[in-house]
Amino acid sequence: MTLVGRYAPSPTGALHLGNLRTALIGWALARQSGGRFVLRFEDLDARSREPFRALQLTDLAALGIDWDGDPLVQSNCRSRYEQAFAQLEAAGLVYECYCSRRDLSQIASAPHTAPGAYPGYCRDLTPSERARKREELSKVGRGPALRLRSNQETLTFTDAVYGQQSGEVDDFVLRRSDGVFSYNFVCVVDDAYQGVTQVCRGRDLLSSVARQNYLHQLLGSTPPSWVHVPLVLNQKGERLAKRDGAVTLEQLRTYGLENPQVISLLATSLGFPPAKTAEEFLAYFDLGKMTREDWRFTPPAPLHQQN
Ligand code: GLU
Repeated sequence: MTLVGRYAPSPTGALHLGNLRTALIGWALARQSGGRFVLRFEDLDARSREPFRALQLTDLAALGIDWDGDPLVQSNCRSRYEQAFAQLEAAGLVYECYCSRRDLSQIASAPHTAPGAYPGYCRDLTPSERARKREELSKVGRGPALRLRSNQETLTFTDAVYGQQSGEVDDFVLRRSDGVFSYNFVCVVDDAYQGVTQVCRGRDLLSSVARQNYLHQLLGSTPPSWVHVPLVLNQKGERLAKRDGAVTLEQLRTYGLENPQVISLLATSLGFPPAKTAEEFLAYFDLGKMTREDWRFTPPAPLHQQN
């Protein structure tokens, strides 16, 4: 079976070193096995902007990362999401949740609940309680969110980098109160639709795997294999973000780092010799030998301070 890898950026700006490093690994894994590599723009978030899609494609191409077919754009796929959602609704697996952000933040700090897991407060309300809560929400101009009625179990899975893991499947949100489908839901629907067999992404998403595997089961699709990769951090040890300074290709160029140097920086950060092109990196990349540690990135000094 041909491996199908994917990269699924959110088009909220130029790609930064962390995004590029993940894309490079995912691409190398797919191409090493003679597989396909597909793209998907996760643009349901209000911060996504159309022009960033072209910019991100330019960034990937500049590093020599190529892809198969046209990238999928989630905002064009709403009817497909509606269909998958209707399938879950018809199976009685969706319920309305009236909890406010404040309710949820209190849950997050409650004992006996896995961090971030929803304990099912709105799961078993009576029809009259629902009607009352719906009315209260509509008075403040809000609607309910829609959650999955899960079996609330812990699932184990194997990650190619971090080994055996287990994660909580809670009644996670499928559709937000503003009608937007949730990341976990569309990610699963799209991975199935795009025939993705291997997902390579940042290790910050390890905690989503149990939920996504579970949803694949419910929707009758086969979950991909999982490859979570270490993160690029800023100097404070937080996940790298655009505000961290010289982190995009364009910014790095103004600091004297051209694309071959960026590839070589990424390769060495993963524990491999410097490579000047993606093809060179591909030739010796070995997932088993890749470092599992996050990489704290020190932005280069401006050119006039160098030498
Ligand atoms: N769109 C997510 C991001 O840009 C990636 C989600 C995924 O790979 O599953 O961080």
